[in-house]
Amino acid sequence: MVAFGFDNSYARLPERFHARLPPTPVAAPKLIKVNAALARFLGLDPSLLASDEGVAMLAGNRVPEGAEPLAMAYAGHQFGNWVPQLGDGRAILLGELRGGDGVRYDVQLKGSGPTPFSRNGDGRAALGPVLREFIVSEAMHALGVPTTRTLAAVTTGEEIWRQEGMLPGAVLTRVSRSHVRVGTFEYFGNHDDVDGVKVLADYVMARLYPDVDGYAGLLEAVIGRTAKLIAQWQLIGFIHGVMNTDNTSIAGETIDYGPCAFMDAYDPQTVFSSIDHGGRYAYINQPRIAHWNLVRFAQALLPLLADGEEAQIKVAQAIINRYPAMFEAAYFAGLRAKFGFAEAREGDLELIAPFLKHMADGRADFTLAFRRLSDSAEDAASDTALGALFDNDAAVQAWLPKWRERLAVEETVSAAERADSMRAVNPALIPRNHRIEQAIQAAQRTGDLAPFETLMKVLSAPYVDQPEFAAYANPPKPDERVLQTFCGT
Ligand code: AMP
Ligand code: MG
Repeated sequence: MVAFGFDNSYARLPERFHARLPPTPVAAPKLIKVNAALARFLGLDPSLLASDEGVAMLAGNRVPEGAEPLAMAYAGHQFGNWVPQLGDGRAILLGELRGGDGVRYDVQLKGSGPTPFSRNGDGRAALGPVLREFIVSEAMHALGVPTTRTLAAVTTGEEIWRQEGMLPGAVLTRVSRSHVRVGTFEYFGNHDDVDGVKVLADYVMARLYPDVDGYAGLLEAVIGRTAKLIAQWQLIGFIHGVMNTDNTSIAGETIDYGPCAFMDAYDPQTVFSSIDHGGRYAYINQPRIAHWNLVRFAQALLPLLADGEEAQIKVAQAIINRYPAMFEAAYFAGLRAKFGFAEAREGDLELIAPFLKHMADGRADFTLAFRRLSDSAEDAASDTALGALFDNDAAVQAWLPKWRERLAVEETVSAAERADSMRAVNPALIPRNHRIEQAIQAAQRTGDLAPFETLMKVLSAPYVDQPEFAAYANPPKPDERVLQTFCGT
């Protein structure tokens, strides 16, 4: 039997933190893919994982030695509404492993069968959403955005029922610095379980924030990491789709890839999720929704922050009020880098704002516009290609001289250096929604995994122009556009 070097700290927490149960076996597991590099990083042998025995474990048919399988308890606010009992309804934490960086990582099966937290769900995941999570989470990692990772995926040989019809089932192995969410804190907070909140906070501090000072320090650190994370989302056009508090990581990672997608044409109001009717989780709303979610975290932490309600609220308020400035600092620094400004100067935002407006008015592709702008930093001959992305080419051409004037102020930076530094933050390749759909359709209809594999390969180097895969950089043609992404739950 394959032995993992598990050391399961979450399983040692009090029993009310989780429900212990093994994954539910499936009919006929078959490997989709092992993420070999991540496996090695976690000290696992990729070929063992791909063996019959390995696949049986990845499907939940066999529990690896040293695992202490459990479903985590949590609650959460979904679309603003309080739900007192959520929890892992279709996921099982197998255990924790040390990565090559010495950090402890959760290894969790997702789609591994019902748990006491399943409510009316079947505990399963469909192949499409599993492939989507595999593609997008690994693309986010390659883009440099903190995220849960995907170690492997298998099909189950079973069909599951979803609103689209009967679909092939799959199980994804998710790896995270910790699956504790804002909703985990809310769960104990809502039960007035101050001891539970304290045990959880101490756990999180020891594991994720060893250097912070006290519970106020924890609150501040989580807010800081989240502010940076959301700034990174905004800077690459990532839309999470379901930013509920149960999908908001305390580790500051992107977690729970459901109806997520990247923007093609720049439109701040973009929404993808088929269940997000009010546009609550539109691109432009993400920073303030994160703030709202962090207030829920602060609320759960209140009893630990001071003695007496008034003092507690005062401490929490002072910290939470710093979020907008933290977000803006990260976001504006990132924006400056996207525009090729090495230093912050007065007037930068006044120069950046009209470009964004021209993008929105001219329906320019968000990713390509910044990639072409990087080319224009090196050579004005590229201005034509840049302008061609905009319906309002003239507006962009009129803006460019002002931008060049600003670049010229930083005279020690050569044009080539500047362009390279811009290309290091303005990706050429993102997981375009239509490409993901094509990969899913091929896998679902005929079992053809080639488009999935190609996409994974292309997206592993998103900041490098890959001429042989030039078509993957392009936005969808009108008939390829995907307007909505289903939750797939
Ligand atoms: P999500 O919207 O995917 O973050 O899920 C919200 C809650 O629903 C979590 O508690 C999940 O564990 C649960 N859930 C989602 N899909 C299923 C399913 N197919 N079966 C059981 N529980 C589910
Ligand atoms: Mg979730």
